[in-house]
Amino acid sequence: MISARLFAGIACLAMLWSGVAFGADSGATTTLIVNASIVDGTGSPARAGAVRIDGDRIVEVGEVEPKHGERVIDAHGLTLAPGFIDAHSHHEEGLFEMRDASPVVSQGVTTIVVGQDGSMTYPVKELFERMQATPAAVNVATFVGHGSVRSEVMGKDFKRHATADEIARMRSLVAEGMQAGGLGLATGLEYDPGIYSSTEEVVELAKEARRFGGRYISHVRSEDRYFWEALDEIVRIGREAKMPVQVTHMKLAMIDWWGQSERFLGVLERARAEGIDVTGDIYPYDYWHSDLTVLFPKRDFTNRESAQFALDHVSPPDGIILSRYSPEPGLVGLSLAEIAKRKGMDPAATLMDLIARSSDEGADQAIMGKGMTYEDIAALIVWPHASICSDGSLTSMHPRGRGAFTKVLRVYVREQKLLSLEEAIRKMTGLSAAHIGLSDRGVIRPGAYADLVLLDPATVADRSTPEDPLALSVGIEKVWVNGVVVLEGGKATGVFPGKAIRRPST
Ligand SMILES: [Zn+2]
Repeated sequence: MISARLFAGIACLAMLWSGVAFGADSGATTTLIVNASIVDGTGSPARAGAVRIDGDRIVEVGEVEPKHGERVIDAHGLTLAPGFIDAHSHHEEGLFEMRDASPVVSQGVTTIVVGQDGSMTYPVKELFERMQATPAAVNVATFVGHGSVRSEVMGKDFKRHATADEIARMRSLVAEGMQAGGLGLATGLEYDPGIYSSTEEVVELAKEARRFGGRYISHVRSEDRYFWEALDEIVRIGREAKMPVQVTHMKLAMIDWWGQSERFLGVLERARAEGIDVTGDIYPYDYWHSDLTVLFPKRDFTNRESAQFALDHVSPPDGIILSRYSPEPGLVGLSLAEIAKRKGMDPAATLMDLIARSSDEGADQAIMGKGMTYEDIAALIVWPHASICSDGSLTSMHPRGRGAFTKVLRVYVREQKLLSLEEAIRKMTGLSAAHIGLSDRGVIRPGAYADLVLLDPATVADRSTPEDPLALSVGIEKVWVNGVVVLEGGKATGVFPGKAIRRPST
């Protein structure tokens, strides 16, 4: 204990000293991070060494000696990894009001991939213009959202298949997004308006994205009742559109399917063996965040049988927690079981009542729902083609927005030892970069962007819980975005070096 404290004291002094550039005459503009345990994002074993940054790029890696006049940072043996890439994120919501993005960077995330679930907060061109005018601490890449495009073309008359003419108009909007730098097409086929699309419509639009070298990522058509059909559908889309497809936030979100991760991965592996590049991403929580309507795939919100089915098979009444509810904000934080008790109704009737009362335009509601088992999450998270995502947003109270990445490092690396540190970091960096077609981020090598995270593998941990959702992660010591420090000593530095990341060929 004493020696540990003494060591910490010495380390502190050394940090104070090492943060100061020595010599002043050469005018070197580089930074050298020394004494790091480098985990480079490829899955290769950690190696001791140094990393030199010049401007926004990494220029040297390995046994590198400090240059005269160079800023030197002593990593004290901590792990230096590429900045994490959040494969499925809603963190653009509120980003221009919270430009330091501290919930994100405090997890070590340096790039967020948005436009997910078919829904774009901003069209691609507008998002990137905003990024340019009002940069944030993190980089942003985006898909073109199918639902947004569908809404623009079909308006309120979306509860049907699109006509050939409407699909043609959607195609040109997808093309517009791709030309502005979109990564590909993202769908949310379990939500309005995407749920009303035919597979043929989706294939047509996916092909349009492919024309530009784009990819396809999907919140599949059902994560519960029709999950196996939904999985077949995404495989079919990959086969017919001849492009990489990704099952985003992989789940077995129905009590009936719990324990069937082998069957799930079997479908994906067979598709891969057939030559379809199907991948996944996942977050490490057994409860999701969505809205009440997601429990009714047939949109029959007044059908008691459907309500009861959802509670018996998808998520139990004590596993559904209201996280937003504008018609009666006092209910937020309570479970459906508790609300039912308060109202003196049974849970199915309560569920239908909550939906009816929030159906007015402008009403807002959201829930967290118990949907998974941790056994299934563990089986899916170790799949070599699964990257890590948060599915979080700056404005949401689900703990994943502030702890997904650090929870993987705490639970699956340190506590359960299901993933090596190198493999976990690959899933957060190199693999996610490959899944969106980036080769110059997500890896520590000369020439790559200097998005970096310095972390302590012995202490890194999530702190956010449903009871204390705003708590930030710990053990992330320093974060660089494009060569600039955005987090230090657990605090955002208040600089905004994040860039708009366009698809590489644009
Ligand atoms: Zn989703």
